[in-house]
Amino acid sequence: MTLVTHFINGAATAPAAGRCQDIVNPASGAVIGRVELAAKATVEAAIAAAEAAFPAWRATPPAKRARVMVRFRQLLEDNADALCALITAEHGKALDDARGELGRGMENVDYACGIADLLKGERSANAGPGIDCWSEFQPLGVVAGITPFNFPAMVPLWMIPLAIACGNTFVLKPSERDPSAAFLLAEIALRAGVPPGVFNVVNGDKEAVDTLLTDPRVQAVGFVGSTPIAEYVYATGTAHGKRVQALGGAKNHALVLADADLDFTVNALMGAAFGSAGERCMAISVVLAVGDQLADALVAKLAAQLAGLKVAPGTEAGCEMGPLVSRAHADKVAGYVAKGVAEGAELVVDGRGLSIPGHEQGFFLGGCLFDRVTPAMTIYREEIFGPVLCVVRVASMEDGMALIDAHEFGNGTCLFTRDGEAARYFADHVKVGMVGINVPLPVPVATHSFGGWKRSLFGDLAAYGPDGVRFYTRRKTVSQRWPSSTVREGAQFAFPSMK
Ligand code: NAD
Repeated sequence: MTLVTHFINGAATAPAAGRCQDIVNPASGAVIGRVELAAKATVEAAIAAAEAAFPAWRATPPAKRARVMVRFRQLLEDNADALCALITAEHGKALDDARGELGRGMENVDYACGIADLLKGERSANAGPGIDCWSEFQPLGVVAGITPFNFPAMVPLWMIPLAIACGNTFVLKPSERDPSAAFLLAEIALRAGVPPGVFNVVNGDKEAVDTLLTDPRVQAVGFVGSTPIAEYVYATGTAHGKRVQALGGAKNHALVLADADLDFTVNALMGAAFGSAGERCMAISVVLAVGDQLADALVAKLAAQLAGLKVAPGTEAGCEMGPLVSRAHADKVAGYVAKGVAEGAELVVDGRGLSIPGHEQGFFLGGCLFDRVTPAMTIYREEIFGPVLCVVRVASMEDGMALIDAHEFGNGTCLFTRDGEAARYFADHVKVGMVGINVPLPVPVATHSFGGWKRSLFGDLAAYGPDGVRFYTRRKTVSQRWPSSTVREGAQFAFPSMK
């Protein structure tokens, strides 16, 4: 049984007395390891290591930092099997899905390989008489990242490459539920040439998070997780003078117009709703079907596909959906299903009570499909974060958009249609940060940035991509003049301007 400690100053810390938590394989329900939960002093040691490493790393030319990123990229590729095995063992998702997650995470390393170009800055020659002016983007110092359980490698990789390529030193606090992938990322980064102290990992819970949010040495905090904690992290971090970006929960709607290609749409919805057991912040959890005729056809086809959905341990060949992350979470999701029934929604497919032979203790739940859900119902309003798809029948595209706009979350949405004019209107007007047109999971590629609207993101900048570079740097603007020794002006008391 493994014990996951912390990775500070280039090495795993020795096992220490203190709080620990079990690591559980969701497919079997078995305890497969333990993770230490850092006390304040341990987090402070990681911050101290990051602070000590900062001056030399800041002074390392961006082009050299980029070369480290190139090696990091290669080593991630070389260690992909090991990383994905850890993801599946501790999170439960299908191995193929783990590979997808890692691939999307590695795109951010690709982007960070261009850091020398990204940090070039802006320059104006002769901004004033004999004056040149430029803006440069300097690293902040020690920055921290706090990440959720559902993407144990990808979300840390939204942060690590840019944070350190920009010249900062980093302390990551991954989810205590599936900490091993992030730990391996730190070991790989060290092998790639990231100097000790530049990338540290502390495992833990609220005590560790609170230390990162209040320690004056930490300049910025990136958070990804549920909305209540995101809001808390944003309020606490900013109250302590830090730059904070806190990404929260979601309730992503797919709006399906009557002219959509039905089979294409159903396939897209199946993957987007039930992939990773619905434990994705970009999962589609609501379908708005325009018109009863479309809704009837859509529900019938979804139900037929759900009957054949292969729910299995993530390591099993052909697995389409693995277990939920924990017994408590599986029970919570089943509780939402019961509530949906109690509140009057029509449960077309009931995934509760599913038992996988040989894996009876696993946290499995079959896909669930509700029809005739209304906006007043709890299953419509709240993020379930499980394999539960709710169909809401609407009369028109306008009615559907009004629901999307009124929802408290605004992470992602998508429209299924063949109508270009409708699609253009939707993309332009809908009040959501990431929009797909016949693309069910519109997660931006790494050269763009990821961010929801409304209560799906607290802060001004989205994650990774161009916004990531801005988040992990601060602008400094320099105006420079070299006066000639022969031409001298007298003192000027009026505010300098161009005459
Ligand atoms: P979570 O909010 O429970 O945990 C996220 C992180 O916060 C973890 O590292 C955890 O240790 C820490 N944390 C938990 N409780 C805390 C507390 N009281 N004080 C301080 N820190 C605390 O989220 P989760 O269950 O790990 O992840 C699922 C959630 O994350 C979903 O709501 C999902 O939508 C969201 N999510 C959002 C995005 C996005 O990009 N918007 C991406 C992935 C996941």
